[in-house]
Amino acid sequence: MMTPNASPAADPQDAAVAIVSLYQKQQPIYPRAVNGWFVRWRWVLVWATQALYYGLPWLDWNARQAVLFDLAARRFYIFGLVLYPQDFIYLTGLLVVSAYALFLFTAVAGRLWCGYACPQTVYTEIFMWAERRIEGDRLARMRLDAAPWSLEKLGRKAVKQGVWIAIGLWTGFTLVGYFTPIRTLWGEALNLGFGPWEWFWILFYGFATYGNAGWMREQVCKYMCPYARFQSAMFDKDTLIISYDSARGEPRGSRGRKVSPRGQGLGDCIDCGLCVQVCPTGIDIRQGLQYECIGCAACVDVCNGVMDKMGYSRGLVRYATQNSMALGLTARQMWARVLRPRVLVYTGVLLVICGALAASLVLRSPFKVNVVRDRAALARLVEDGHVENSYRLQIMNAT
Ligand code: SF4
Ligand code: SF4
Repeated sequence: MMTPNASPAADPQDAAVAIVSLYQKQQPIYPRAVNGWFVRWRWVLVWATQALYYGLPWLDWNARQAVLFDLAARRFYIFGLVLYPQDFIYLTGLLVVSAYALFLFTAVAGRLWCGYACPQTVYTEIFMWAERRIEGDRLARMRLDAAPWSLEKLGRKAVKQGVWIAIGLWTGFTLVGYFTPIRTLWGEALNLGFGPWEWFWILFYGFATYGNAGWMREQVCKYMCPYARFQSAMFDKDTLIISYDSARGEPRGSRGRKVSPRGQGLGDCIDCGLCVQVCPTGIDIRQGLQYECIGCAACVDVCNGVMDKMGYSRGLVRYATQNSMALGLTARQMWARVLRPRVLVYTGVLLVICGALAASLVLRSPFKVNVVRDRAALARLVEDGHVENSYRLQIMNAT
């Protein structure tokens, strides 16, 4: 059987044999800019997460860097808290809390993390913003890419790459600033005097950011992210997902603004294609739930704008559950089902773990003594007939 990706066998005798490529060539996606309630929320989160990430290492606390993971001294400073390797249990607690929070948010509203707070989404948003400023919106970018090379095209592409690389390197520099005092690092940056490990991590993390957010974008979400693969295990039919109301929208079709769709036998979807054009993963939400959907809600915002212009009610594309669509539930009935047993269990477990973690931090002793038997030295008899054992005494002031 021939497929679009199959090439015919060279030898007529092998006519029944076809070579099937399992690699699908990446189709360029040119997401269109969109405004709306959910986009604004995404930008609030971009600002909040990035102000935190880029700003935190520059904050001081009691004449030292407020947040510093000093691997060489094996001390981790987080404002007033000083943690030692013995305190790694808190890191474990933090990871368990993060995992449960992810389960909870996914069970309630699907890929909230992917759509609003995942570094891949956040940096892609920043890189796309820079791209739009330099190359223009969707149509301008498509025209520029299709045009032959010219001085203008070369200039715009070079500026874009320069800005992307600068953002990537600053991101890498900031990451290293969490492990090496950032003001010392800045001094080293001015004369390019980084140590080998600092060079490695700045370049590695910088170019990972540049490659993932600038070039690979939706490919990371579709093919590389493990969360995208197992999140379906946390979904059920009462999970809020971005949904197209096909009962209301179909049959789709173009029409004039003043024309009554019902009179024409049409649904509310005017088939403008804008929901596809704004989608950063290039899918059509009207085909139902797809694993490529990162839940960014850009299609909700753009479709609401179309509905406003047409004078129809909003929400043809909206957050809804599969059950609410299939059973025609009201918003109140839908929300009542969102708070189902698994959500309550996740919430309960999360609250218990957070409480235990907070209590353990508050009750933590600031003074620690470790007495460890020196295994390298055997017990021995000393002059007065006593037996001598060696111990190592470690005293820590953990404030
Ligand atoms: S944006 Fe709304 S109206 Fe336009 S094609 Fe998509 S679902 Fe239909
Ligand atoms: S289908 Fe809508 S919510 Fe999903 S990724 Fe595309 S634009 Fe975002």
